[in-house]
Amino acid sequence: MTLSRPFRSLFLSIFFLTTFLKIADAQIKPGRDPNQPIDQEYTNKIREYTTAPYFNSPLTDYLPASADVPNPKAVLGDVAGAPGKLPYAEDVYKYMRMLERASPRVKVYSIGTTEEGREMIAVAIGSEQLINRLEENRARLTKLADPRSINMDEAEADRLVAASFPVYYITGTIHSPETGSPTALMELAYRLVVDNSPYVKFIRDNVLTLITPVVEVDGRNRMVDVYNWHLAHPNENWPYLIYWGHYVAHDNNRDAIGLSLKLTRNVMNTYLSWKPQVLHDLHESVPYLYDNTIGDGPYNAWVDPILTDEWQMIGWNNVSEMTKFGMPGVFAHGNFDTWSPGYLMFIAATHNGISRLYETFGNAGADTVERTLSPSEYQRTWYRQNPPLPKAKWSQRNNNNYQQTALLTSLHYFGANSKLFLKNFYIKSKRSIDKPKNEGPAAYVLPGDDPRLGNQAELLRTLQMQGVEISKATAPFTVAVKKKPGSATSPRPSAAATAAASPSPAASPTPTPKTEDRTFPAGSYIVRIDQPYSRIADALLDYQYWAPNDPQQDIYDDTAWTMGELANVEVVRVTDVKVLQASMERVTSEVRSPGSIKNAGSVFLVNHNADNALVTFRYRLKDVEMDAAEEPFEAAGRKFNRGSFIIRRANGDDLRRVADELGIQIYAVNDAPSVRTHPIRAPRIAVMHTWLSTQDEGWYRIGLDHLQVPFAYISTQDVSRDPNLKSKYDVILFAPVGRGSQAIINGLPMYGNPLPWKKTTLTPNLGSIDETDDMRPGLGWSGLQNLQKFVKEGGLFIAVDDTTDFAINYGFTAGVSVNRSSRLRAVGAILRTKMVDAGSPIAYGYSDSLAMYCSNGPIFNINNGVGGRGPRTQPRATGRGTPDDPDVPQGRPPAELPEPPPRVEPWEAPPVTDEQRRNAIGLIPPNQRPRVVLRYADSRELFVSGLLDGGDEIAQRAAIIDVPSGNGHVLLFSTNPFWRGQTKGSYFLVFNAILNWDNLNAGRKLAEK
Ligand SMILES: [Zn+2]
Repeated sequence: MTLSRPFRSLFLSIFFLTTFLKIADAQIKPGRDPNQPIDQEYTNKIREYTTAPYFNSPLTDYLPASADVPNPKAVLGDVAGAPGKLPYAEDVYKYMRMLERASPRVKVYSIGTTEEGREMIAVAIGSEQLINRLEENRARLTKLADPRSINMDEAEADRLVAASFPVYYITGTIHSPETGSPTALMELAYRLVVDNSPYVKFIRDNVLTLITPVVEVDGRNRMVDVYNWHLAHPNENWPYLIYWGHYVAHDNNRDAIGLSLKLTRNVMNTYLSWKPQVLHDLHESVPYLYDNTIGDGPYNAWVDPILTDEWQMIGWNNVSEMTKFGMPGVFAHGNFDTWSPGYLMFIAATHNGISRLYETFGNAGADTVERTLSPSEYQRTWYRQNPPLPKAKWSQRNNNNYQQTALLTSLHYFGANSKLFLKNFYIKSKRSIDKPKNEGPAAYVLPGDDPRLGNQAELLRTLQMQGVEISKATAPFTVAVKKKPGSATSPRPSAAATAAASPSPAASPTPTPKTEDRTFPAGSYIVRIDQPYSRIADALLDYQYWAPNDPQQDIYDDTAWTMGELANVEVVRVTDVKVLQASMERVTSEVRSPGSIKNAGSVFLVNHNADNALVTFRYRLKDVEMDAAEEPFEAAGRKFNRGSFIIRRANGDDLRRVADELGIQIYAVNDAPSVRTHPIRAPRIAVMHTWLSTQDEGWYRIGLDHLQVPFAYISTQDVSRDPNLKSKYDVILFAPVGRGSQAIINGLPMYGNPLPWKKTTLTPNLGSIDETDDMRPGLGWSGLQNLQKFVKEGGLFIAVDDTTDFAINYGFTAGVSVNRSSRLRAVGAILRTKMVDAGSPIAYGYSDSLAMYCSNGPIFNINNGVGGRGPRTQPRATGRGTPDDPDVPQGRPPAELPEPPPRVEPWEAPPVTDEQRRNAIGLIPPNQRPRVVLRYADSRELFVSGLLDGGDEIAQRAAIIDVPSGNGHVLLFSTNPFWRGQTKGSYFLVFNAILNWDNLNAGRKLAEK
């Protein structure tokens, strides 16, 4: 680095200043200021509730007294972490606002509301000087976060760093059964405001601490209800937390990709506006403190290596300091791989900050109990030299001691190295802007002629929420792009080669890919990678490759999330920097697809392109008659796909208004096209849940709610009591449960007392989503009968992943059997499917090749007989000759062999044999046989993104099957069409089934026999 003289002296003085600070810091001992009085009563309680002295530290074994600042007892009636005390979010906020009123060192900000309307807050704490300079500091951090604003001027960056203080953002209790953070953060806030020990004063003077004490507010209040019920019924089993947030439970911490939940959006917006250097999320599932910031490999492939070095620095300091305090069970490695960007804390990792996460040890409530660990938890390992104790009495206070001690040591270390981390923040931001000329790519392009402009706009809006800048081409432009596999020069593999192909995608080092020129039309969207938040765009739009032989065999979460594929939208990665010179303008408002009515006429046509807005359109205009074309047609000089909407009688103004709002293109013509049609209605939908788990079905509800598709929310218990389901519903959707078919029928064991989930004065936050007097009973045999009757009477029952096991095993689906894989590893992966029956209404709007989310989906076999299995190849028997020679019995002339049966594909039923027809008891009539709509691609094409190993086991098998049953249908998904708000490109398979529920046999070609 060459610097001009004045800058060099500035640089040197900063250097000496930071060095001095570090030396000064080294002399600051953690522990109380003997000149500051302590709150003796509070301190006594801390000692009483801490179960052993080594579960505390010199930072938290006392509480400084204050004459005018209230401590947490003011709200809790006892100390933080006291047994039996679990505050509601409102109580936590009340305390934070008491602090704000009592001290100029605190400011409380409202950062939005939850799905159920509860407030989320962020509490800023620092010295008066820091609080007074919040806005000017924010302005400086904003410049450091976007080095373009200072023309990448290094000297100016150094001046900004020298003048700035860092912001360290802590978030608590996103996981509602992990209950300790709110009280830990209340007391931490108090200490940061009041404590005059040099150690804490140093933090207050050098770091702005920002705290969201409750992230999952709806779930927190439900958890407190459950705990209070437990306190009121001391000798009984208590209901477990079946609902956390309004939609999802544990996976609220997997939403940083799709941003479906308000809590993620609120934290994202807080992050983007405060420009903190750290986002530190608190969890409680590992004894006693697993600082999983360092975690384990593989690391996310798109983050800056500077960040991964920062993880090591902070993580090891944390372990080291707490080891010196003599606190057992503090460690930094473990089984958490740092691959997926879906975690809340990863918002920082992908936006040039530092992501951090603690797992401490909680009791899921505030009871003090004896906890016995498993050997894997208490054994010493190389990274855990002082492991947790095999058995210990554990209290919420212990947990609060660990949480606060760890946070204080981190804040102190961060303050002592604040200039380094601020400069790193700048460098990481700058390197994100420099990406096109370093590692690339230069941009991602979303072509202006994509057939699904609505889904494209939705994907771009998600990127905008991530803080990504979007540009739009104002003229066509031509750049070099990677040559597509399968374009003229790379021949497709032959069928024979395909069948013998290796099950997993080849992992050979590839030479530089060949390129070809491609011209994109004006109106194409360009995600420039020379912007500060390019890393999140790159991480989300790129493909993932997880090697089957990766040393990490304990995979923590999804291995793939490629957004373009899952949205069924084309996204082109462009490394040619020429793309940045294309004529374009920055999009300054939300990306919207154009919606209007073109031409004039009394008949209105809407092309079916599987854009999700079409389902909203249908339900918004539920009283307008609409038909679906059963074949493609041409009209108004355009091609229309199968399934396109034909509207013969409607008010043009109403249509125009809705089309404009939803971004749908309508074409008016004078005469309806002459094509076979059937009505598409707006049927009555029920989403059925169990009382076992609502984790995965929540993603279905959120998808339906966002698209304004109305549905009834019913439980298996409701179904068990209702023999006339068909009178209420046309479609019942049964999303994955994850507990097995028998548990769906049986529910929970009926031992002990009932487990109510109801709104009462003791539990005011339960029951708002659904309620029951007793969570234990399941669907039962009556429920099974009622569901089967519903289908026979004409209803549509949709099952996905493990609920297909339920449907198949309990006899809903003649001709389909299921196996679970033995070798397949598709761990949250994206796999390619192929069209089998494009005439099925379920396939309307889709083309041949759809990428879908799959998590070791069930493997279906198809048969034309009841109870039969799928095709099996018969290898030749031992005998004379080569493998393809016939054997020859000796001593007689050779017998003439029958014609070999026609080749049967793995997604097909074997042809009906003469033997089956002779007495056709089990033979399914042709119009009741399973109809395969999509299948998995063959082994060579199956892999799209993530980890796929043993793929031959599922390759070419049926992926989506429509099974007629009586007057109704059962629809089976081996893939999962609704996952974490990321799979918007496959939503319409379900919507098609819903809209065409009473005409699913349309376009079906029946077998003759
Ligand atoms: Zn957790």
